[in-house]
Amino acid sequence: MSDTKKAFLKAAQEKSWDLTHRKTLQFNIGRYNQAVAKGKERYDNLNAAKNYVAALKRQVISRWDEYLLQFEKKAAANGIIILWAKDSNEAITHLKTIFEEKHAKLVMKSKSMVSEEISFNEEVENMGIEVLETDLGEFIVQTAGEKPYHILTPAMHKSKTDVAKLFNEKFNIPLDSTPEEMTAFVREKLRIDFQKSDVGISGANFLIADIGGVALTENEGNGLMATAFPKTHIAITGIEKLIPSFSDMATVWTLLSQHGTGQQITAYNSVFTGSKKDDETDGPEEMYVILLDNGRTNLYAKEEQYEALSCIRCGACLNACPIYRNVGGYTYDAVYSGPIGSVISPHYKGMEDYNHLSFACSTCGRCSEVCPVKIPLHELLLVNRRDAVEGKMTNTCETQALKLATKALKSRKQMDALGGNVKNFGAKIVGPYVWGKKRDMPVFAKKSYSQQQSSNSKLRTFNS
Ligand code: SF4
Repeated sequence: MSDTKKAFLKAAQEKSWDLTHRKTLQFNIGRYNQAVAKGKERYDNLNAAKNYVAALKRQVISRWDEYLLQFEKKAAANGIIILWAKDSNEAITHLKTIFEEKHAKLVMKSKSMVSEEISFNEEVENMGIEVLETDLGEFIVQTAGEKPYHILTPAMHKSKTDVAKLFNEKFNIPLDSTPEEMTAFVREKLRIDFQKSDVGISGANFLIADIGGVALTENEGNGLMATAFPKTHIAITGIEKLIPSFSDMATVWTLLSQHGTGQQITAYNSVFTGSKKDDETDGPEEMYVILLDNGRTNLYAKEEQYEALSCIRCGACLNACPIYRNVGGYTYDAVYSGPIGSVISPHYKGMEDYNHLSFACSTCGRCSEVCPVKIPLHELLLVNRRDAVEGKMTNTCETQALKLATKALKSRKQMDALGGNVKNFGAKIVGPYVWGKKRDMPVFAKKSYSQQQSSNSKLRTFNS
């Protein structure tokens, strides 16, 4: 068994029984569910919008090279410097070159999961440069020395009391501060830092091919500040984030916010098409876009799983997933957690070490149901499982045990060969490993179902 799988099983066992964690998650996801349900009522035909964006994203994948080159050409014509990175190392090398050229000392970063993929904060801090997260959730987890817990809501695992305690320890603000007071504190602090910063980093929700623009959507305005105040703006993004045309954005943005937060539209929606023009007073003097592969073309090469590249990172599948809701985000030990993370992580980070995530699924199908771009997530998880088994990457004992069970379950005679007592004894031995240490195994009846039925029918014959 791989070390990553062992760590996953251990963490899952612990987190599933952490009742405080469960309560916080249930509260936060409960609020999300209410907002999303209300938001859905705004659509006359939500399914039509989903079909439209799903088709759009499939179209992008089918002509991926064309759209990428179109984006590159248009963005370059807008004065944006495009840099390609096949992996984290190349992305970090590009960043290092830019930071050295700009003599950067302070970097302000808006929310970006792609930056997590390349361990941006650690790498840049190792260069002796300070990095400050500017999204409130990201700021909270950075202050706590943690990683984002959820692709959309990085501090979902923390209650307001947890945050107040953290801010009290780190910034000496009163323990009884309200969420509004804590937000005002962070806002005030970051305003000063924005003015001192040298480089602003953002992700990209979408790359708009026909205009060569980078679209960013957010609720706090920090993304706008991080891209407007510093003299240099660098957007780091995955190469799958393409949308064909600016005219698609009305549907795409609203569908994303509907599924991400339940809002009709998020508060700030920006499209960056280059640095400040001569007649403009605000904005960066230079703009770069780093286009990161980092395993995406591996996924593209998979005949069945490539569809997962359509994901618009709304986070809905995580909130719907019974596994995620129990084991929580950190247990996955991957940048992308929940159903979408379990589909793509084995291809981004290696099937050998991450295939176990595809087995952490009950195949209930709720993730596929809620996905705004109709990715059949639970089916893709089954395909990953098949690939792992065929590639002999799964546990041999487990495979043999399943083969034996399949054989036994196909024959009633064999199932009945062992009595209830023997079955219960076996269950007691293997139960803690397969069923968890804190759960009681179901008790087998002394007689099997068919044995009970045959005694009943004898009884009925006798009575008649
Ligand atoms: S797979 Fe679908 S539901 Fe999950 S994050 Fe991506 S778009 Fe959202």
